[in-house]
Amino acid sequence: MRWSNPTTALFLVLALRVPAQQPQQAPPPSTPSPRFVVVLDAAHGGDDTGAHLSSGQLEKSANLALSVRLRSLLTARGFQVVTTRENDTFIDLNRRAELANHANAAVCITLHATESGSGIHLFASSLAPANPTRFMPWKTAQAAWETRSLGLAGAVNSSLAHAGLTVTLGRIPLPGIESMTCPALAVELGPQRDADRKVSAEPDTPDYQAQVASALAAAILEWRSDPNRTGARQP
Ligand SMILES: [Zn+2]
Repeated sequence: MRWSNPTTALFLVLALRVPAQQPQQAPPPSTPSPRFVVVLDAAHGGDDTGAHLSSGQLEKSANLALSVRLRSLLTARGFQVVTTRENDTFIDLNRRAELANHANAAVCITLHATESGSGIHLFASSLAPANPTRFMPWKTAQAAWETRSLGLAGAVNSSLAHAGLTVTLGRIPLPGIESMTCPALAVELGPQRDADRKVSAEPDTPDYQAQVASALAAAILEWRSDPNRTGARQP
């Protein structure tokens, strides 16, 4: 409901009239590319370590490890994969969105890890869905893709649950993703817990990561073949 805020509305008017003041304009929504590019965005990196995991590892490393696993599975299935980082470097959020948008991504998944909660936390942006306009404001460009991002969240949720993983869905402000002009999600890997809430796998446990990567790859595969993915009401 942020769009009903008068200040936000004013910002949008200004953003549309004075495009030069934006860090960068998002390109207008276009018809889907025949290529199906998946962007994998391992969050954090460099001095931005992310969370400290109980295993002693830093979140930035766990995120990169999952990105590498998932890239490998997707590449083997014939997807074109673009990653925002391949090593331990800091990448600005705007740069990550630029990479995703430049790749004309069909799916972008930002990867996080945490010690809190349990299982996989899926987040779509909390932006209200909006119709695409000639130039979408950079900071809220995702609004025109929000409906498709929610559809993607549903597909990923089903696949993870089918794999026996605990999933929590949510919508929150997601800087970075909110500048992306593609269906986009944040996937946060929390610890796996048994019936007594005891941790049975940490977010960086290799077997657990492999199980999650496999379920994510299956979800993206299914999403690619979903006829509703390019519904007429969506950009
Ligand atoms: Zn994080």
